Amino acid sequence: MATVDLQLHDIQKGFGTFKALDGVSLDVAAGELVCLLGPSGCGKTTLLRCIAGLERQDQGRILFSGRDVSLLPPQARDYGILFQSYALFPNLTVSQNIAYGLTALGREASRKRVAEMLDLVGLTGSEHKYPAQLSGGQQQRVALARALAPSPSLLLLDEPMSALDAQVREHLCGELRSLQRQLGITTLMVTHNQDEAMLMADRIAVMNQGRVEQYSTPQAIYDAPATPFVAEFVGQGNWLPYQRDGAHARVGGLSLRLTTPGQSEQGRLFCRPEAVLVNPVSEQDNLFSARMRDITFLGNRCRLSFELDDLPGHALLAEMAPEAMPPLHGKQIRVALPPHSLQVFA
Ligand code: ATP
Repeated sequence: MATVDLQLHDIQKGFGTFKALDGVSLDVAAGELVCLLGPSGCGKTTLLRCIAGLERQDQGRILFSGRDVSLLPPQARDYGILFQSYALFPNLTVSQNIAYGLTALGREASRKRVAEMLDLVGLTGSEHKYPAQLSGGQQQRVALARALAPSPSLLLLDEPMSALDAQVREHLCGELRSLQRQLGITTLMVTHNQDEAMLMADRIAVMNQGRVEQYSTPQAIYDAPATPFVAEFVGQGNWLPYQRDGAHARVGGLSLRLTTPGQSEQGRLFCRPEAVLVNPVSEQDNLFSARMRDITFLGNRCRLSFELDDLPGHALLAEMAPEAMPPLHGKQIRVALPPHSLQVFA
């Protein structure tokens, strides 16, 4: 299966006066799995539809391995697509559904390809069943087999898991990811589910209001969000409004040491809950007294909500593995906000 790299240059798309895509540029390497992640209405599906040729961008260029496909009809672009709704033909069997796009092959070659695809998605033995006789996860596997059967160079996935329940979804995420690696097929997947994107993507493009706010690896997006929107959309975080004071930040009655103070006189500091140290045993910078509000046990971690004594009325979060929970004596605690974990946003 020949795979492609994908380049998007300054894609713009409006609906009336509304700008659904406002200058999107992205490069996807051959064999890479990229997730378009963002809230409802940010333009993810519109971008996927432009790449598929199902929507025509107002401006910008789309290249598949250097080939300009911007103005080509969908059938001339060479991709497989999978939607949220499985969109199988209910009156055709599993085999007939998968064979649907294989009319160019002879009968025997088509039969062989269907058998290969069934094996690939783990549904050998179900060829004569009808979609209604399959579970949601199985139907989505058939839809995936149908999308992959003609050996496309690019796979486009639009919220492929969202109709499935959580357990099936997680399982299928893993299957889809290993299948994608095995085939080496360049894949673009739309999702609003950050766990799904984190789990599957080589790189994530976080979208907001028709623009890409950050395009990076899952870890970079989590550890070093480029904008407040990304920081807020991906994972949990603490925000502290600050005024700059040299290399320090004043937050209410506190002075916090920063490693990278930034240029702005004021703004917000951001810190992940797991970076907060509770009752540390060693000497720490930015160590403050605080009052515990609440502890929640979340299975593999504990979430502790607290208020700094010098910043009353402002709830903050700390998270840790249950076994890392320090001894607590009453509600009074000490917390450290390590300088390297404080990110400065203007
Ligand atoms: P969701 O996760 O809810 O599907 P999305 O990020 O995929 O959201 P899009 O479907 O791309 O968002 O839509 C982006 C914006 O463009 C939305 O505000 C939507 O209402 C609007 N839009 C999309 N298609 C059309 C259309 N054909 N006509 C008018 N507006 C549209």
